[in-house]
Amino acid sequence: MKYVSTRGSAPALDFEEVVLAGLASDGGLYVPERLPSFSKVEIESWRELRYDQLAECLLEPFVAGAIPADDFQRMLSETYAEFRHPAVAPLVQIDKNDWVLELFHGPTLAFKDFALQLLGRLLDYILDRRGERVVIMGATSGDTGSAAIEGCRHCHNVDIFILHPHQRVSDVQRRQMTTVLADNVWNIAVQGNFDDCQNLVKASFRDQSFLQDGRKLVAVNSINWARIMAQIVYYVYAALAVGAPQRPVSFSVPTGNFGDIFAGYLAGQMGLPIEQLIIATNKNDVLHRIMTSGSYDRGDLHHTLSPSMDISISSNFERLMFDLYQRDGKQIANLMQQFDSGPIELNAAAMAQARELFSSASLDDTATCKLIGDIYQSCGYLLDPHSATGVGAAQQCRRDSAQTIISLATAHPAKFPEAVAKANVGISPSVPPHMQHIFTSEERYTVLANERAAINRFMAEQLGA
Ligand SMILES: *Cc1c(COP(=O)(O)O)cnc(C)c1O
Repeated sequence: MKYVSTRGSAPALDFEEVVLAGLASDGGLYVPERLPSFSKVEIESWRELRYDQLAECLLEPFVAGAIPADDFQRMLSETYAEFRHPAVAPLVQIDKNDWVLELFHGPTLAFKDFALQLLGRLLDYILDRRGERVVIMGATSGDTGSAAIEGCRHCHNVDIFILHPHQRVSDVQRRQMTTVLADNVWNIAVQGNFDDCQNLVKASFRDQSFLQDGRKLVAVNSINWARIMAQIVYYVYAALAVGAPQRPVSFSVPTGNFGDIFAGYLAGQMGLPIEQLIIATNKNDVLHRIMTSGSYDRGDLHHTLSPSMDISISSNFERLMFDLYQRDGKQIANLMQQFDSGPIELNAAAMAQARELFSSASLDDTATCKLIGDIYQSCGYLLDPHSATGVGAAQQCRRDSAQTIISLATAHPAKFPEAVAKANVGISPSVPPHMQHIFTSEERYTVLANERAAINRFMAEQLGA
């Protein structure tokens, strides 16, 4: 399988290269040159498979030629054996035709484990074969950092540096990262906010000369194709469980960077009958505004009770735009260049095509808390604030009452106790037993100034030591 850039002028890469690449050299994002596609009969035949076996069937074409099938199957089975539920991604029914897909049974209690646990193994495997070592550097407002650290702590060929804004992530989120005392893991608490952390990471990627031994930085955010790929699986898995492919299914997805819901779109392109994909946003509604007005305009960043969806632009939306513009990389390059200096208008044909499949809604914190309360009242089920935006958007965007909608629960409510308390349901979610240790374990992190030189010097010192 070859991968091409959404901006059309970077070289095509194979799977191994694309996992290590991050952004394409033309500024675009990598997507498969051609998607595999499966018939209804084939999809139907997978109904009885375990999660990891289904992953093998769906993902094998993406890694073909780069990773032998046996090795890939072993990585998948190890990855999903770490999840604390025998179904890996169980469904819970909350109304006659409404389901919640629990994606928080991985080691760090958020859906990012599905991809990052696999990515860690893929990286180690690929780097072993090449005899290389790399440095992962990332910024986090919470979930990505802990999932990335958990996914890479056992990697022999990877050192990982995660920047978080000092005193601005929740206690649970910080402890999930800082109690990992592995020799290849460094947590940096930056004296600044999340945007500062992200800017420090971006600047470091642009000039990597501080890595004196010639090693390269690798990105583990959702611009990395392997993350998107891994997320395709649970759409098919959940749909099969509620009667696909005979019965079309809809999904509602709490969305920030458009990575997760783009994987749902790909599942549809590969043959899964999907009736509707609902983009659920919080007050950071850049995607909801695109869907309603056709205009892509950076918003101001709002801090909400669902912090993992607090974004002002949605990087992976470019991957959808590429398809909406008939995969014409030149047009995307032009549009994104205009977007650097201001809002852009998407053409009417592209928007009409998008609206056939996608709907959207935006829930502010008040609506999110009310929704958590309503669902707890009606069926005793406790949602985290991210998942609540998904269920709320499903209610708003439902086309008819017979439609089967699966809302993705992207995090465990115990990760966001403060938001759940605001919802006033009268109970507080407890952290599952396998994570209790973080409250008593030793923490390790380094507080550094919001200055690129200080961060890069620290990294070089640690890597040289
Ligand atoms: C990252 C995250 C999201 C947003 O996912 P995207 O792929 O960025 O759209 C939603 N909910 C939770 C809990 C997350 O951690």
